[in-house]
Amino acid sequence: MVKITVIGAGSLAWSATLVRDLCLTPSLRGSTVVFMDINKERLSLIDAFAKRYASEVKANLVFEKTTDRRAALKDSDVVINTAMAGGHSYYENMRMISEKHGYYRGINSVEWNMVSDYHTIWGYYQFKLALDIARDIEELSPEAWLLQLANPVFELTTLISRETKTRIIGLCHGHLGYLEISSILGLNPRNIDFEAIGFNHVIWLTRFKHDGEDAYRFIDDWIRNKAEEYWRIWREDQVNPFDIQMSPAAVDMYRTYGLFPVGDTVRGGTWKYHWNLETKRKWYGSLAGPDSETGWKVYLDMLQYNFDTIAAAIKDPAPLTRVLPPNLSRESVVPIIDSLMNDKVGTYQVNVLNMGVIADLPDDVAVEIPAKVDGRGVHRMRVEKLPRRIVNYVLRPRMMRMEWALEAFLDGGRDTLFEWLVTDTRTKSTEQVNQVIDDILSMPENLEMAKHFK
Ligand code: NAD
Repeated sequence: MVKITVIGAGSLAWSATLVRDLCLTPSLRGSTVVFMDINKERLSLIDAFAKRYASEVKANLVFEKTTDRRAALKDSDVVINTAMAGGHSYYENMRMISEKHGYYRGINSVEWNMVSDYHTIWGYYQFKLALDIARDIEELSPEAWLLQLANPVFELTTLISRETKTRIIGLCHGHLGYLEISSILGLNPRNIDFEAIGFNHVIWLTRFKHDGEDAYRFIDDWIRNKAEEYWRIWREDQVNPFDIQMSPAAVDMYRTYGLFPVGDTVRGGTWKYHWNLETKRKWYGSLAGPDSETGWKVYLDMLQYNFDTIAAAIKDPAPLTRVLPPNLSRESVVPIIDSLMNDKVGTYQVNVLNMGVIADLPDDVAVEIPAKVDGRGVHRMRVEKLPRRIVNYVLRPRMMRMEWALEAFLDGGRDTLFEWLVTDTRTKSTEQVNQVIDDILSMPENLEMAKHFK
């Protein structure tokens, strides 16, 4: 019998989808799903949701809940980590302090990582939590697979792969951006063959074929003849800040670096797209993209709304399937579990150590690539070659930030924070660097972090 453990299960938006997909996967029936979270209220909600949903769709699964992480992890076959240490408000406070010192969107936001909950340099507690979970797995269920969903997937997959023997796969749904590209171009996704590779949140469309023929020509044609009209209407109608896959920023990145950016990649880029709200609006539309003061508020409100909707549905005797209809999502988490546990071969977008797949990058860095997964694990496949421009101007600089963040976490010391900031294009003086470090480290929540960076 398979034991699946979810750490940070109170992430209701995630867990509800997970529960639905598990319930709708007959080959995983009979499994035990253990929810673990430090928040008892959220834990009870997801547990109640899961039990009722499973009974409505007649899925034979056992659900348990606990606040004891080690008990939850013991003898697991699969562990899903969706935990975010500190919660959104903690990071919003650090963002506010950073902005007082001239660091718009926070000291964490840097070139090729502008994503507001992809916490790197200020993610001390998040790194610690993820590494502790991986070390517990190493001890308590050494054969288990860790599916790392909590961000930063790039940093954490690399860190855990280097520091532990735990078998980890980092997962993200960003690559599904190829579906948006296809549908806006008027192409049937079923006839598309695509490949998008690089690092998590920094992936580039290395192959894009429609009915076996190169489909980049459709992108070029769209840019030449349709983009302006599309953007005119898009700017007027935009309701979703994440609706940026075919934004002017994406097209500009394509022109600059030579391949089309996919999914969250569009949210990154250099400061060219991010200086301030006005700049962000120019490139990402009226809501200024998700990683702006306007767009991020929409996202956090939406998370709260989703949470409230599910919490209300649990209190309501009406069927939960009305709120979450019994259709499989597009998330790959449950299909990957099925492949690993039931030895079903499937091809998935995964984050694993490079080990030579992308020739221009070191072996011990987590890359995002397609791979075959079955009962024996992950089998890397050959991928297309990335242009030199993407390697030198995008991936290597992003990799350097990852290495700095890992060093800051592992070694500590104030100089690691200082070096991070002194190379930041927003830095105007040494005093500015010292003041922002002092203010962030004197937050009451950062007592332990302050000792680490002393
Ligand atoms: P959230 O704060 O709503 O949920 C996180 C949960 O973690 C909470 O229930 C919290 O109580 C719990 N938690 C905190 N500390 C814990 C600990 N020590 N032990 C156990 N549980 C703990 O956050 P969210 O918005 O649901 O995001 C969760 C994570 O998922 C974030 O890192 C986010 O960036 C990431 N995310 C990943 C993807 C992806 O495709 N991989 C997509 C969206 C979000």
